[in-house]
Amino acid sequence: ATPTSIMVGTGRGAELGVLFRKGEALQLLKDAAVVAVDKTGTLTEGRPALTDLALAEGFARDEVLRLVAAVEARSEHPIARAIVAAAEDAGIAVPEPDGFQSVTGMGVQAVVDGHRVEVGADRYMRALGLDVAGFADVAARLGGEGKSPLYAAVDGHLAAIIAVADPVKPDTPAAIAALHALGLKVAMVTGDNARTAQAIADRLGIDEVVAEVLPEGKVDAMRRLKAAHGRLAFVGDGINDAPALAEADVGLAIGTGTDVAMEAADVVLMSGSLQGVPNAIALSKATIGNIR
Ligand code: ADP
Ligand code: MG
Repeated sequence: ATPTSIMVGTGRGAELGVLFRKGEALQLLKDAAVVAVDKTGTLTEGRPALTDLALAEGFARDEVLRLVAAVEARSEHPIARAIVAAAEDAGIAVPEPDGFQSVTGMGVQAVVDGHRVEVGADRYMRALGLDVAGFADVAARLGGEGKSPLYAAVDGHLAAIIAVADPVKPDTPAAIAALHALGLKVAMVTGDNARTAQAIADRLGIDEVVAEVLPEGKVDAMRRLKAAHGRLAFVGDGINDAPALAEADVGLAIGTGTDVAMEAADVVLMSGSLQGVPNAIALSKATIGNIR
């Protein structure tokens, strides 16, 4: 491509709200074979709400919600806001926790009113030596509905299964259809539960799912997707997406996401919409494809 065509394409991108931080990205995008997309905050709103809470025998709803919300009040994760909001909506006074700790990719823990409380994924409960099999049917149903199941433990006993649901952004389905129309494969990459991720992917017609990845696992997922499909674009919004944005051939950050993601990206989608991805690829094809 000539410097002129890159300037023209970059300028046209700016008009479309697609900010090319590197001219190379405009050249590379036209031959992208696969677009990998972070789930939470990129495909979905990133604002989950609590939808379900089922108790183990001997536990009461308000007490479990009180203990769990106390721990989550210290967490930055979107899941945490959903749980704290549910407690507040129920008029529950949330106490101050002691010794809060976040366990990456697993969940959170603290001591609340002298009770040891853990909240997180099924693998977190298993790591704590707790058996979640009693909730297997409920978890399968929730996951099938595209909800994310979490578990709460109190003083070493499994107390509840909690589900949160995060709505898909209204413009996500059209953006995926546009990527397919351009001949690309679309993959979802997420730390969330495999069944939940698959249910959402099925709804959206997403071709491939990489679920239950730890933050550092996103980089490995990028390498695998590149090896399997060819040139890879990755779209994300979070702090923990930065390594994957750097590892992809082209990293695109959602402009409404974190500064860390935007700094790691080659392209920033100012509109905050996933539709910016097919727009950027189409622009690359139009400007670079025609001018040699
Ligand atoms: P993602 O946000 O893509 O799901 P994370 O690595 O942040 O990836 O989290 C992985 C999983 O760990 C979450 O899906 C959830 O099951 C659990 N988890 C993380 N943080 C929390 C939290 N504050 N409360 C409950 N569960 C959590
Ligand atoms: Mg995200």
